[in-house]
Amino acid sequence: AAHHNTFDLSTLGTWQAGKPVPFAFLADAFEAIAQESGRLVITRLLVNAFRTVIALTPQDLLPVVYLCTGQIAPSHEGIELGIGDAILIKALSQATGKSDAILKQQLKESGDLGIVATKARSTQRTMFKMSALTVPFVFKTFRDIASMEGHKSQERKRELISKLLTSSKDNETGYIMRALQGKLRIGLAEQTVLVALAHAVLLQREVGNAKKAVDAGLANRLEEASQSVKQAYSQCPSYDDLIGTLLEHGLENLKDRVHFRAGIPVKPMLAKPTTGVSEVLNKFEDIEFTCEYKYDGQRAQVHLMENGKVSIYSRNAENDTSKFPDVVSVLPQLLRPGVTSAVLDCEVVAFDRGTQQIRPFQVLTTRARKDVKLEDVKVHVLLFAFDCLFLNGDVLVEKTLTERRKALESAIEPRQGVLQVATSKTSRDLAELEVFLDDSVAAGTEGLIVKTLDSTYEPSKRSSHWLKLKKDYMEGAGDTFDVVVIGAWHGEGKRTGVFGAFLLAIYDDDAEEYQAISKIGTGFSEVLLKELADSLREHIIDSPRSYYKFGKPEPHVWFDAQKVWEVKAADISISPKHQAALGLVEAGKGISIRFPRLVRVRDDKTAEQTTSPEQLADMYRNQAAVNHGKQAADD
Ligand code: ATP
Repeated sequence: AAHHNTFDLSTLGTWQAGKPVPFAFLADAFEAIAQESGRLVITRLLVNAFRTVIALTPQDLLPVVYLCTGQIAPSHEGIELGIGDAILIKALSQATGKSDAILKQQLKESGDLGIVATKARSTQRTMFKMSALTVPFVFKTFRDIASMEGHKSQERKRELISKLLTSSKDNETGYIMRALQGKLRIGLAEQTVLVALAHAVLLQREVGNAKKAVDAGLANRLEEASQSVKQAYSQCPSYDDLIGTLLEHGLENLKDRVHFRAGIPVKPMLAKPTTGVSEVLNKFEDIEFTCEYKYDGQRAQVHLMENGKVSIYSRNAENDTSKFPDVVSVLPQLLRPGVTSAVLDCEVVAFDRGTQQIRPFQVLTTRARKDVKLEDVKVHVLLFAFDCLFLNGDVLVEKTLTERRKALESAIEPRQGVLQVATSKTSRDLAELEVFLDDSVAAGTEGLIVKTLDSTYEPSKRSSHWLKLKKDYMEGAGDTFDVVVIGAWHGEGKRTGVFGAFLLAIYDDDAEEYQAISKIGTGFSEVLLKELADSLREHIIDSPRSYYKFGKPEPHVWFDAQKVWEVKAADISISPKHQAALGLVEAGKGISIRFPRLVRVRDDKTAEQTTSPEQLADMYRNQAAVNHGKQAADD
């Protein structure tokens, strides 16, 4: 479909070189992308858009790329959109003169505020011609909206949003609305943006300047460019750094220019599940590995900067520094002499100083989430360090775990009950490892993480170099599932006034949709049901989102997908009703989990970090294999 490789630029009017990129240009690109589903075509569309921007107004490439990813700043800066429906509807009402009630009704029908807004604007007669929106203006306004706090901030936000909507026309309105909601939903994955960026920069520098003709090696160079841009971004997840460098230096020596550094958190390396010590021994037959206690707390990436500043980042690269003033104040004293900067990967757990025992995860969650004052700290914490990604200016992510562990030992002076190195054991002896696993559980941890010693640190990857070995798996319970609550049924009898059951879903990254996986209605105490209802009420929406996939019966109440729960289930089964992992195991059928029980609320995970359809399908297949094995043993 060659004609799909480009989109109509005729609506642009007079965009001259050096002048701000018209927002209409981006909206047209979004629209062209939304109509395609093939990754290659989408990439090509985006490459063309980026090349045009680089050729005409390179200084706008940064906001253009940000808007494509639905972000307005690197995640560690914490400046995010994700404006609630209520404000958006009020702003739309203000901008169009349509009543709240009518707009709400339309939202109920379509499930998509973008559509409602476009329709409301298109039927509106305007008195005078507004000047066209530009990308830098929209971007700046988004940032202003996201950073507003305090007195009357809701009204001020509504005011700005309403102005944006008033100036928008045609397809711009819908994309502004969706961007404000926090997600464009046009099937544009971050990896695609990175690939397109790499291609655009390469082509623009080589072919664009006609220095080189298109030659046979081009495909290879494009592939190399994509790899190096993806690599750079995974080590330094900041478009500000990446794009500035690409525009100035192109792809040459990108690795040396954009790399990991203290102050910019990377997404943590993650582990894959495994079913037991023997499986580990099989998988790592010829590979050296080590086992560490798997502490049950919260991931903490601690950045100690040369200027003495300490920052702590969560699993999602959110800035958690103000949650742990106790850690911030003591850490600098625990560096060995000569250490000027370091980045440590750690698990922070609640700790009882009286009994000198680790406390359960639930205790940790009772700590306030931000702006904690040192004197108010009641739940003490202990930091278990298990990795070192950076030391005295040296990037260590590409060194082996053996080397990184050495660096860790040389960086910190452990102190009992405050900062310790994760307990570990290196052995190949089945019996010895079983004992170590038992010990880990007795010590109040979840089990072990098994790591290969010669592997590098792979940011944001669920790597097969790290395997998690939880005691639970061995008891036949299998791993837990992370799911998001999208609906609920009203309680009856004793449960009147709270919800009695909930609809759970998982997120499908490719389809950009939430797929129902199960209903949960048992195992809750009355107190817990009340707490859950209180935490969910603020997320109630009038109707299911257009990107929710579910069967019947439908819940009484719908929620914006926000609250992530970790649940345990009796087993995984093929389901004609639930939509999770549809077609992955059996054509036309989804996968469901049976008899789920809530283990805990996962405030450290976002709605898009649920168990994925692929993971679910894998778990189903594993279970089938295990059951098959059991049956064979019984026979
Ligand atoms: P996932 O998305 O991988 O399911 P999760 O948050 O549900 O993540 P688990 O998979 O159960 O957690 O375990 C991985 C987490 O265990 C890490 O993200 C980290 O927070 C924690 N952890 C505890 N001890 C260690 C350790 N020694 N090494 C690595 N991670 C550890």
